[in-house]
Amino acid sequence: MKLKGRTALVSGASRGIGRAIALALAEEGADVAVNYVSSEGPAKEVAEQIQKMGRKAVLARADVGNFPDTFQMAQDVLKDFGHLDILVNNAGISSDKTFVKMDHASWRKVLAINLDGVFNCTKVFIDQMIKRNYGRVVNITSVIGQIGNFGQANYAASKAGVAAFTKSLAKELAGKGITVNAVAPGFIATEMVAAIPEKVQQRLLDQIPLRRFGRAEEVGRAVVYLVSQDGDYITGAELSINGGLLM
Ligand code: NAP
Repeated sequence: MKLKGRTALVSGASRGIGRAIALALAEEGADVAVNYVSSEGPAKEVAEQIQKMGRKAVLARADVGNFPDTFQMAQDVLKDFGHLDILVNNAGISSDKTFVKMDHASWRKVLAINLDGVFNCTKVFIDQMIKRNYGRVVNITSVIGQIGNFGQANYAASKAGVAAFTKSLAKELAGKGITVNAVAPGFIATEMVAAIPEKVQQRLLDQIPLRRFGRAEEVGRAVVYLVSQDGDYITGAELSINGGLLM
């Protein structure tokens, strides 16, 4: 087991990619804090699955877009775990509209969760990582942040912001035993992609050289790679998992 004795928090771990990351970390031996904002039942199920593997799991409710809420969550998690080794900033939303139709509220909502959320979660855990001279931070970006997309100016800007944040932090923290990386999924079969109209899904598949959507578990295993000893020499990277959509 590659992560035995490690502690981790995954934001947005109640479903989709975050759930798969939380389970993959636990499979490799980590104790995991399962963050969610509203899906308590599904988050509990994830925590129970982790406990069945013999790991410790705690529920960590917080709106990551809200700093005081996130700060309180961190206090509770640190009380339970003692310290945090691995932080995966996965929570994210989309609110798609062409720019002409996009109002300020929709812009702010996406930026508040996708970009401010990464700042908030990292801020509340980083000091104790620096103190222990060890930490692994992985931020989930998106191929959309790399290439832009029609109707997703807010989402693309938030993810490109997280990618730039990742590289800056990697440089600042490299001397403190902390690596900071990003994983940029392409289209992964989760609720987010299921919400795309079928016709558009088919057009997307036609553009993906591997001719299928990715699986959340494939993202989970990439995160394990980056936070385990295998990834010790990797920092400031943005690992693409997109079936060849961008190369
Ligand atoms: P999803 O199925 O919609 O799940 C989103 C998760 O984020 C849920 O656990 C949700 O919790 C949580 N969340 C939402 N707002 C939150 C908040 N304010 N505070 C805390 N948690 C919050 O999404 P997904 O498809 O798995 O995507 C996960 C991440 O991967 C996102 O950052 C997304 O942008 C990125 N991504 C996804 C794809 C894709 O194809 N699916 C591609 C590229 C990148 P609740 O259940 O409690 O609401």
